[in-house]
Amino acid sequence: MSIHLIRDIYTAHKQIQGPVISFEYFPFKTEEGQASFFDKTLPRLLDLGPDFCSVTYGAGGSTRDKSIKIVDRIQREFGLTTMLHLTCVSATQDEIGGVLSEASELGIRNILALRGDPPQGTKVWVKPEGGFEYSYELVTYIAKSGGFSIGTAGFPEGHIDCKEGKLVDWGHLKNKIDCGADFVITQLFFDNADYFEMREHLRSQGVTVPLVAGVLPILSGSQIKRFTQMCGARLPETLLTKLEEIGDDDEAAAEFGIKYATEQCEELITRGVEGIHFYTLNKSRSTIAIMENLGLA
Ligand SMILES: Cc1cc2nc3c(=O)[nH]c(=O)nc-3n(C[C@H](O)[C@H](O)[C@H](O)COP(=O)(O)OP(=O)(O)OC[C@H]3O[C@@H](n4cnc5c(N)ncnc54)[C@H](O)[C@@H]3O)c2cc1C
Repeated sequence: MSIHLIRDIYTAHKQIQGPVISFEYFPFKTEEGQASFFDKTLPRLLDLGPDFCSVTYGAGGSTRDKSIKIVDRIQREFGLTTMLHLTCVSATQDEIGGVLSEASELGIRNILALRGDPPQGTKVWVKPEGGFEYSYELVTYIAKSGGFSIGTAGFPEGHIDCKEGKLVDWGHLKNKIDCGADFVITQLFFDNADYFEMREHLRSQGVTVPLVAGVLPILSGSQIKRFTQMCGARLPETLLTKLEEIGDDDEAAAEFGIKYATEQCEELITRGVEGIHFYTLNKSRSTIAIMENLGLA
């Protein structure tokens, strides 16, 4: 098993043409769903030759054990570097220290350090007692622990809670990088101009770490409207009109999503994006089609 620090993957890739490719998964609710994912979906996706993948951490740390087990299983069974997402939600520093120790013992070397969203039933973020208020504190804590490559989240349109606007939010992002984050993975976005504006701003502030584009292939009109409402991402007018035309036809929405994401990635690659992180939603079809369209499969 050859597990790498993700910062080294980005550094090594600088010599090669083309972006680092990563895939994101989330833990299934049921054992059957998870088993079928490991038997069918995951092997299909890994056939595409991603450079690494990542596993999300459920709200309130609810999938903590599942997430760690899945990361460990992918690394052991498939030999692929896999990053654990970790949030500050409902956790003390000691509990977070425990997760890091367990991860380290299992050979997990990469953490995406996140604040997380307010626990279910609440709308406003409150610092957990004995825990962290912002993700930069988690980044600092992991950096001090040593041995991990650390990723952080970036928001091309600014984070939904940052009422002072995107420039202030990007200042907070720079702070996370200054505290020890090695790379940024962005929230989903549908207008590349937002990504390029954030990149230009951060580069002008001296940020040099990889700014990895998070790309979500649309699978259904209603689902994407729900997602974007939750995270505050904008659906451009032309995209919205197309989705209205498509209506409830999920097959047509998925086909359109493949075309849209392919064009989005083509421009990002032409303009030198260091990495593309696919939000696979645990499905293989769209990601396979986009990778094939891009000649990256
Ligand atoms: C690639 C990616 C993966 C994700 N994976 C998960 C996951 O697995 N599980 C999950 O629950 N969620 C996940 N999320 C969602 C994420 O947890 C939420 O978007 C959350 O609301 C913000 O997390 P953050 O780490 O950016 O928080 P922070 O960096 O702490 O920022 C949160 C807010 O606080 C502000 N802020 C930051 N620093 C300061 C400061 N010093 N002073 C004042 N304000 C400040 C920011 O501007 C922002 O508005 C993911 C998001 C992305 C982009």
